Amino acid sequence: MSANVLELLPIDITRWAAGNTGIPYVTTIESGRAGPHVLLTALTHGNEVCGAHALDFLLEQGVQPTHGRLTFAFANVGAYERFDATRPTESRFLDEDLNRVWSPEILDGPRQSRELARARALRPVVAAADYLLDIHSMQTGAPALMLCGLQAKGRRLAAEVGVPPLVVADAGHKAGPRMRDFGDFGDEASPKTALLVECGQHWSLAARDVALDTALRFLIAVDVIDPHWAIARLSARAVPQRFIRVTDAITITSPDFRFHSPFEGMEVIPRAGTVIADDGDHDVATPYDDCVLIMPSRRMVVGQTAVRFGRFEA
Ligand SMILES: [Zn+2]
Repeated sequence: MSANVLELLPIDITRWAAGNTGIPYVTTIESGRAGPHVLLTALTHGNEVCGAHALDFLLEQGVQPTHGRLTFAFANVGAYERFDATRPTESRFLDEDLNRVWSPEILDGPRQSRELARARALRPVVAAADYLLDIHSMQTGAPALMLCGLQAKGRRLAAEVGVPPLVVADAGHKAGPRMRDFGDFGDEASPKTALLVECGQHWSLAARDVALDTALRFLIAVDVIDPHWAIARLSARAVPQRFIRVTDAITITSPDFRFHSPFEGMEVIPRAGTVIADDGDHDVATPYDDCVLIMPSRRMVVGQTAVRFGRFEA
């Protein structure tokens, strides 16, 4: 579908504004039994509405953990509230990208922005979580991806969740660390594990189904929910997964960065050395045969990631 067809629009989530944690738009449901603290986050990017649909549905359906506790956080609600169907991409954030600020240096530092204020408010919730699923969507119509990070624990959990069919192991962005890489999530020695799911194109109905299915299967995988309750609400069967390891993230260095084709993502470029873009005075070429292009950006901003290169694992 075209990037500008708006099948899936923002919904009213103001009934979750008060929450029950003292942090706006953060709700925790306790099972009363021992178990992990599981965090589901939506709207880390304000224009990525599928996660808001999924969390709203789960809360509305009265989801109840059988073990541990379950927290729902609508992250960048300030940006979400600015959604304008005539300029839908502009509500990604207000001042800066909320998913590039997740390090103690930045969070404890002097910089101020509306996103940093929100990240500082959410930090104790993120730090307390044993498992995190951060729900996103993409600019293009490329297939859904699970981003599992570089550690084996992320890969294991992605396999246990079982959807979506493509799993990408990557290190994130030069522009700043993501929520899913924060603290213990990025430490192989810690059992705390985070996943980030890219559910498909931002405003596609399919993204909503992927978001909900992934959230339900995630809750089953971390054993905090009655599987029968979850399975009854799934829309699709799981199919075998393929794993891709990201080898390079191409960061934009020139305002003249230009792709040579309108890549959507997940294209496989057969020959090493194929030039796919130019970035000011130099070409960007694939480093090996059968190179997978992951999440090519449509926002050509110096310092941001243009595309990532990856290879399928056996
Ligand atoms: Zn996102």
